[in-house]
Amino acid sequence: MNNADDVLIGLDPEQRAVAEAVRGPVCVLAGAGTGKTRAITHRIAYAVRSGVIDAQSVLAVTFTTRAAGELRQRLRALGAPGVQARTFHAAALRQLTYFWPRVIGGAAPSVIESKLPVLGEACRRLRRNVERAELRDIASEVEWAKVTQIGPEDYVAAAAKYHRTPPITPAELADVYDAYEQIRRERHLVDFETILELTAAVMTEHQEVAAQIRQQYRYFVVDEYQDVNPLQKLLLDTWLGGRDDLCVVGDPNQTIYSFTGASPRYLTNFSVDHPGAAVIKLVRDYRSTPQVVDLANLVIAKGKSPHRLELVAQRPDGPKPAFKEYDDEPAEAADVARSIRKLIDKGVPSREIAVLFRVNSQSEAYEEALAKAEIPYVLRGAERFFERPEVRQAVVLLRGAARSAAGEPLASEVHHILGGVGLTPSPPGGGKAREKWESLKALADLAEDMAAEGADLPAFVTELERRASEQHAPPVEGVTLASLHAAKGLEWDAVFLVGVTDGMLPIIYAESPEQIEEERRLLYVGITRAREHLSISWAAARAPGGRKGRRPSRFLDGLTGRAPAAPRVAQSARAERRQVAAPVNCRVCAKTLTAATEQKLGRCATCPADYDEALLERLKAWRTATAKETKVPPYVIFTDVT
Ligand code: ATP
Ligand code: MG
Repeated sequence: MNNADDVLIGLDPEQRAVAEAVRGPVCVLAGAGTGKTRAITHRIAYAVRSGVIDAQSVLAVTFTTRAAGELRQRLRALGAPGVQARTFHAAALRQLTYFWPRVIGGAAPSVIESKLPVLGEACRRLRRNVERAELRDIASEVEWAKVTQIGPEDYVAAAAKYHRTPPITPAELADVYDAYEQIRRERHLVDFETILELTAAVMTEHQEVAAQIRQQYRYFVVDEYQDVNPLQKLLLDTWLGGRDDLCVVGDPNQTIYSFTGASPRYLTNFSVDHPGAAVIKLVRDYRSTPQVVDLANLVIAKGKSPHRLELVAQRPDGPKPAFKEYDDEPAEAADVARSIRKLIDKGVPSREIAVLFRVNSQSEAYEEALAKAEIPYVLRGAERFFERPEVRQAVVLLRGAARSAAGEPLASEVHHILGGVGLTPSPPGGGKAREKWESLKALADLAEDMAAEGADLPAFVTELERRASEQHAPPVEGVTLASLHAAKGLEWDAVFLVGVTDGMLPIIYAESPEQIEEERRLLYVGITRAREHLSISWAAARAPGGRKGRRPSRFLDGLTGRAPAAPRVAQSARAERRQVAAPVNCRVCAKTLTAATEQKLGRCATCPADYDEALLERLKAWRTATAKETKVPPYVIFTDVT
């Protein structure tokens, strides 16, 4: 067996076929957990190690920074370092920043990660008063228009053609969009869509730039291709410049970004667009137990998906998925925390457990319940690891110490330095302090791992700098709290899908059959994240003592072993949103109350009924500290993208 063949060990025949198809167009169409990501990783490693392609000429595009970091790490472990694995935005931004001063002149524009501040200013210029929630809806609509390549001048016609329902009239939205673009240009700013657009434009208008980029990158691999949007496809085509060395993998049943303009048609039409393409299907599910796989298959079978990518479980039997109903949300969160504690006590590491929800604001109850139970947690979509103040401070101190580095063993030296920034032997109770401690502990753990391999402080600092440049955070110990969107591509031993009510999943404003099907796919994504333990739960009322008017998601009808609940009284989504928008403030923490039940109570469901002043102060401080993480809009997942 030669060196490269080692890489094929541990692949099944279809995955092996993917790995061995090193040239030409290849499309892997397969369900969740069948090893698509594994197959492309091994394919790149096999091609590089067998000498067919050069590592530097590969551009692997993944969906999140974390996925890109993992891909690079796995390639290094497979003996193929040096491959560029990035998100679309990160790859484009690198090229744009490099070529901008050379072909356009001056400094490259600055990147805005959120459209909200500029959109807010656009509204003020137009003397339009908008609430933050409405601004978020406007941002989503502008994003859709931009990825679909519809400019402000064409928006009104496009909104009618594509049956868009913007939060303000199409003509008003077009004005806000136009003002947004003007301000953006005046300030020399680019958003994520503009980065892709400009990169493609620079390549089209400057042939020497296109030639240089195409000379560098000759082999393209795209993971999660079902969620590619028209703008990303345009850039990919521009990079390829008519060449065909492209391998894509995806699962049409996991399309969860069509609300932002993504489309699975590039995946399902791949062999039409690329005649002669090898299309390979994988069906063996290596991730989940047969019990989890059966449920995932049923959820898709009950929908309208034309793609019957039925999964065949490979793992031994596990526990049945649990379906649990609670009286109210705090009761649900408290019991989930208890179940997590039991799993941890049985030896399941906390990093192998996730709580997944439909919208980020649902995380708050779980943050509180886990903090109360003294269970560490990590909120995905929050600040990037290497940008956290405590991590930046620690890296500066470690770098300084490395320059003077004398003889002390790595692990104890790192512990000593991190102790100065707040790493205590045992973790603090919860909240911000706990998060800070978890970040420092992750650095200390990495130092211990490297010390075991004989590394010294300068080597540790070099590794940290490399990871920081790749945004590759060390694993932070703790239960993951994430939205279903942020969970794609990931897996855990135990998954708790919480708040699975009709109104949350499908979300209340999903009205068209297509939107409802997308919500079903989100449930499928959630279920298929679990290797072994899966719990799906919902609460009949939001707050204790509230009206128990909620029913479980309609997608669970016939799957939970209970009689389906009576459907809710039909109410238009807009009416419902209006109803929850009245500005009533919580008498304990002063937060604006949006749910009717809470407004009736006069306080948040999670705030205590009998409170004293000291508790009130603590709660206020805690909420201020966590507000940044908990108030993130649904599309915050994009902060994870560059
Ligand atoms: P998703 O659709 O969720 O992105 P995927 O198809 O990309 O899933 P992977 O993440 O590549 O699937 O693999 C799922 C799990 O199965 C991983 O833990 C992976 O290591 C394991 N796996 C994949 N292929 C095999 C195999 N041939 N033998 C053993 N384990 C495998
Ligand atoms: Mg994958």
